[in-house]
Amino acid sequence: MENVYDVVIIGGGPAGLSAGLYAARGKMTTLILEKEKTGGQIATTEEVANYPGSITDATGPALVARMVEQCNEFGAKIEKDTIKEVKLEGKIKILVGEKNTYHAKSIIVAPGASPRLLGVPGEKELTGKGVSYCATCDGDFFTDFEVFVIGGGDSAVEEAMFITKFARKVTIVHRREELRAAKSIQEKAFKHPKIDFIWNTTIKEIKGDGLVESVVFENLKTGEITEHHADEEDGTFGIFMFVGYIPQTDLFKGMLDMDRTGYIVTDDNMKTNVPGVFGAGDCRVKSLRQVVTAVSDGAIAAVQAEKYIENNFEE
Ligand code: NAP
Repeated sequence: MENVYDVVIIGGGPAGLSAGLYAARGKMTTLILEKEKTGGQIATTEEVANYPGSITDATGPALVARMVEQCNEFGAKIEKDTIKEVKLEGKIKILVGEKNTYHAKSIIVAPGASPRLLGVPGEKELTGKGVSYCATCDGDFFTDFEVFVIGGGDSAVEEAMFITKFARKVTIVHRREELRAAKSIQEKAFKHPKIDFIWNTTIKEIKGDGLVESVVFENLKTGEITEHHADEEDGTFGIFMFVGYIPQTDLFKGMLDMDRTGYIVTDDNMKTNVPGVFGAGDCRVKSLRQVVTAVSDGAIAAVQAEKYIENNFEE
């Protein structure tokens, strides 16, 4: 048989990198597979203010770079590949990627979650042309322009604050009249001179020919429909969507136990229903999805993978 890794980790976000660090440090042969860029969502987060110890240079990319360096130092391999198929039934698990096939004694599933689309007409067509899901990536395109941020959670309010660095005005559009975001973040946003709110409102349609030109809002309480047009001089404006995330777990449907929304069910030791397969990070059913809980999951999963190998594979 080809090279069999002790642990293959799917996903190079904080959960996967933490698992990689612990696994490699535990002298297990470790491979981290990432389909895009290491770091997951945190790689596009400007400020990570609530990760303990992250005070100087507390940007997402800086934190990710330190995590990657630490993984490399302990000998974890990080490779770019997209896994298309998994075979979990045998003692040796098989992962079929676009580039290679991988064999592993244990697997840590840490693929994270991706932004949820609002699903309104015009959204897909105008993504990258005024509609965005990443303030760090696209915020500066809207320097001195107007921006609408959709959603009322931590992401919407934090990213709205970040966009005020560029935009001349940021309006948070939320479907209720109370934000879901943490109170501490809310207070800052309410006080911010560049931030306005539109309550009980959602988007019905986004219009534009090559660039966002107008947006149709619906007031969910009164049913009133209004259309906001770009300022004549600007010709366009930004719409940033932060309406939650969807776990990237399709690959494991029918194999791993999940809740109704696709989050993987694990026990406190990150064990899934399949022996030797562990879940970690935002893909799993949990009450708090943050870097600090993701790295904790990764560490637990790696230590449990080590125990699983000790008990199930002879030297
Ligand atoms: P979230 O907490 O799920 O919030 C999503 C927001 O979008 C909610 O306000 C929701 O409204 C709204 N929404 C959902 N579907 C919608 C629709 N179809 N139309 C209009 N609005 C819709 O997502 P998140 O803010 O991305 O946060 C995800 C997780 O990461 C959370 O656990 C959050 O605490 C965490 N996070 C933490 C930090 C931090 O601690 N600094 C930063 C970012 C994210 P309702 O409120 O009415 O449901």
